[in-house]
Amino acid sequence: MTDQTTTSTTTTSTTTTVGDAHVTVADVPTGLFIGGAWRPASGGATFDVRDPSTGAVLASVADATPEDGIAALDAAVAAQDDWAATAPRRRSDLLRRTFDLVHEHADDIAAVMTLEMGKPLAESRGEVVYGAEFLRWFSEEAVRIGGDYRTNPEGTGRGIVLKRPVGPVYAITPWNFPLAMATRKIAPALAAGCTVVLKPADLTPLTTLYLVELFRQAGLPDGVLNVVPASDAKALSAPVIADRRLRKLTFTGSTPVGSALLKQAADNVLKTSMELGGNAPLLVFDDADLDLAVDAAMQAKFRNVGEACTAANRFFVQEGIADAFTAALSERIDALRIGRGTEDGTDIGPLIDSRAVDKAAGLVDDAVARGARLVSGGQRVDREGTFYAPTLLDDVQPGSDILTTEIFGPVVSITRFATEEEGIRLANDTEYGLVAYAFTEDMRRGQRLAERLETGMLGWNTGVVSNAAFPFGGVKASGLGREGSHEGLEEYLETVYVLTPDPFAA
Ligand code: NAP
Repeated sequence: MTDQTTTSTTTTSTTTTVGDAHVTVADVPTGLFIGGAWRPASGGATFDVRDPSTGAVLASVADATPEDGIAALDAAVAAQDDWAATAPRRRSDLLRRTFDLVHEHADDIAAVMTLEMGKPLAESRGEVVYGAEFLRWFSEEAVRIGGDYRTNPEGTGRGIVLKRPVGPVYAITPWNFPLAMATRKIAPALAAGCTVVLKPADLTPLTTLYLVELFRQAGLPDGVLNVVPASDAKALSAPVIADRRLRKLTFTGSTPVGSALLKQAADNVLKTSMELGGNAPLLVFDDADLDLAVDAAMQAKFRNVGEACTAANRFFVQEGIADAFTAALSERIDALRIGRGTEDGTDIGPLIDSRAVDKAAGLVDDAVARGARLVSGGQRVDREGTFYAPTLLDDVQPGSDILTTEIFGPVVSITRFATEEEGIRLANDTEYGLVAYAFTEDMRRGQRLAERLETGMLGWNTGVVSNAAFPFGGVKASGLGREGSHEGLEEYLETVYVLTPDPFAA
């Protein structure tokens, strides 16, 4: 392996060659983006971004101070009125041009993503397509912001209901989908006429910075989108959230951090959107199509190395199909190839850091100690980087930590159940409610599940629910609000109602 890196204050050029794969990442910005220009942090500090499959430093990124955060908000506030007054078609065109640029640069973006996050290149390319869809979808929605005009019930007046942008937005995104979690917020905000300050996760800022550079090339007006990577998220964010000029906070990340941010947002009664943690149940009923259920379960569990809020966390399998399902799934798991995300044929890359490996190992050890049967995997991988073997546990016992904890790793936990009633009870036995998966060929059972599972989304005979055209989001501790679909645009709009007298009255 060879790595060559050259850096300046605002860009880096990294060339990485791994085995047969040649990944060249050139001119990835590493500065702050404020008011339409790249710049170093005000104190000149930087922090390192590492490749989790080797620990090697990929780039040093400007480390925004709280003053930089306020400077970014100043820029967003200064641009807000003009951006709100910009014709919807022009807002739409910016998003559409950026969509085209993301596709033109898809291979580079995927390479950057794989280097900093670890997932296999094929999955990074998949995220590029998925993340870009939000740009296209909301470029189409930007010109379809509606209103209402109607006569009041008394017939004495007319009501006009109009929508207008909520105002400057602060967006905080996680490391696991560094492109899509950013476009899912930026695109609807810009479509609605809001300006944005975005803080990406410090583990994976490079993909987001690359995206912002493409926005700049697409003609982004100064101040409309500002990005402030920082090593101290709390210190940067608290003054921005406390600033009365901010009107919206949108967050994707863990439930404890989301809950703490909601408390901060309460002081200024900020409009908030919260995409938080998950603990997805995956139910397989006796009448399921076995091959389909196994294929979908592999996607629902192992996409993104299991590091997805939508990852199937708790498998509940009905007794009549459990032996066949477990045998077929373990065969597929044993065939997964572990490696660097940049290597051809890799199915399972590294976890994001050593804490994630410790967490997966701790959950597996606890489940086994409480009586679970280890069918596949169950150990750390003996190589450089932060790898954990894809693992299958059967007969996981009540009280095991793995049933109440978001695993965020490549571990399947199976519990068997007897009746539909029991399956639903087990699935709902969690504080979370982001997504559920269910496999049954019985139409009426599927409908019953849709009405009774406590979840914001249900994959019925499918292992992937994410789609820009549909409302993504959870119930219970999994969050507030929706991203994607027309509902995702509404999160950045507020409703104003005007009453005027009957124009025909004498
Ligand atoms: P996290 O620790 O909550 O961090 C998320 C973001 O919040 C990061 O940018 C982080 O910055 C920042 N942050 C952390 N503490 C903060 C604070 N006190 N004030 C302001 N910002 C703060 O979550 P994560 O580990 O990155 O992501 C994994 C979690 O995200 C999982 O729970 C997963 O389920 C959830 N997630 C949910 C969805 C969804 O759509 N529902 C999608 C993806 C992920 P730094 O990283 O720079 O510290």
